[in-house]
Amino acid sequence: MSERIPHWLEKQSEVNPHHIALESPDGGKKTFGELRQESRQMAQALMKSGVQKGDHIAFLSDNDLNYPVFIHAISYIGAVVVLLNTRLTSAEISYQLKDAHVKRLFISNSYEVKAEKASKNLNTAVQKVSELPQELADEYDLKRELALDEVYTMMYTSGTTGKPKAVMHTYGNHWFSAIASSLNLGLRHDDKWLMCLPLFHVGGFSVLMKSVIYGMTIHLMEKFEPSLVNKALITEGVSHVSVVTVMLQKLLEDLDGKRYPDHLKCMLLGGGPVPVHLLEQTADRNVPVFQTYGMTETSSQIATLSPESAFTKIGSAGKALSIAELWIDNDDEKQPGEIIVRGPMVSKGYYNHPHQRDAYLRTGDIGYKDEDGFLYVVDRVKDVIISGGENVYPAEIESVLSDIPGIREAGVTGRKDERWGEVPVAFLVSESPGTLEAEEVLDFCKERLGKYKLPAQLHWVEELPRNASNKVLRRQLFSLLDQED
Ligand code: ATP
Ligand code: MG
Repeated sequence: MSERIPHWLEKQSEVNPHHIALESPDGGKKTFGELRQESRQMAQALMKSGVQKGDHIAFLSDNDLNYPVFIHAISYIGAVVVLLNTRLTSAEISYQLKDAHVKRLFISNSYEVKAEKASKNLNTAVQKVSELPQELADEYDLKRELALDEVYTMMYTSGTTGKPKAVMHTYGNHWFSAIASSLNLGLRHDDKWLMCLPLFHVGGFSVLMKSVIYGMTIHLMEKFEPSLVNKALITEGVSHVSVVTVMLQKLLEDLDGKRYPDHLKCMLLGGGPVPVHLLEQTADRNVPVFQTYGMTETSSQIATLSPESAFTKIGSAGKALSIAELWIDNDDEKQPGEIIVRGPMVSKGYYNHPHQRDAYLRTGDIGYKDEDGFLYVVDRVKDVIISGGENVYPAEIESVLSDIPGIREAGVTGRKDERWGEVPVAFLVSESPGTLEAEEVLDFCKERLGKYKLPAQLHWVEELPRNASNKVLRRQLFSLLDQED
């Protein structure tokens, strides 16, 4: 029999009914009491429209104050919600609906055309949330407890290294993820987390879980707009914010000479590699950036740099959170090897995927630990270039290239080479095309990279191929190369 806990929103609205759960920049607000009321109403409406316990339901919506209402409604029913990325094409959505055996797709008003197209040849009915029945009596029994080993959400991995896979998350995964994060970052009654990442990704979703589990306010933004985010960070009493590398870059540019106020305690930075020069810049300007490492499979963070080490271990993603373990698949953990993790926030597996997972998860990422046990994430196993018997990590070269004034971004991948086996090739996006010579780029690299890591070729391109999560698809850089040849 699975361990059960009281429904977290019931609990929060009992303890903190008048505390603000959600607020938006336009002044919209919901207390925990209101959030409970609306979520229960939504659950009644969904059940009236035929949704039952165990059903697979997909949800496609931008960040707005009704997003959490839908998410909590699902937990009152005991259905499973598949969170769809709004940037996916209809063909990609179609694949996910089919793969996850989705019965019904619920959408906010904006995605009608995409949803209809995606579900065209499937047995998935599309329905607008706004057209659900209103003003219902309490006709159906709602859950008062949550079973920790029951699946609650499914989120697809970003599809950076291959086809996206549906990661199953239980209530327990989300619960332990939130608890572990608070043990690491600390918790105060007046914490407020600014959320400008999409809620359909685990990085955004996990903050929704933290909010309901801690009783913490979320300042929810529909999208990332650097000047608006900076303004809110300065004037809205925000204590935490989650960002990815490109966002941090833009926030710093927009911040100009200004400083963040002391109430901003934590900028949680994750989701992909971070150039060291960017971290150094934040340290110089006293911006409280904590690098974090995690993935969809670990329900968000699994390792995070602690506040005490934020400015002394620059480049590190810290140590495994208190209830997680993390080790390097190498006898000497100071040498690079695959990162392996274990803990109650790690998903029990992928839906509709034959491979049974072991008690631990091989992450597909390479990292090492320093002499104090701090983790440094190096790159992905699949992307390593082996040149003349040496391992070359594209992320290291990309970090150097993106530090060159005039280069906006860089993607590096390997190309076959008769003499060396493989050699690195760089794809560069310039700030202003034609101003930077290849020779200047190579001279800069020569000072910072060993000879075998120097790009054998440089290609100037207009943009890098990215997936719906905005991650660079190195495997598609090859096809850019083929087009050029
Ligand atoms: P797929 O698994 O489908 O290829 P994905 O791995 O990009 O896609 P996500 O779960 O969104 O899907 O991303 C998790 C990955 O992001 C990690 O496995 C890691 O490669 C990368 N990542 C996360 N945090 C960091 C970090 N701090 N430094 C470097 N890479 C990171
Ligand atoms: Mg992955």
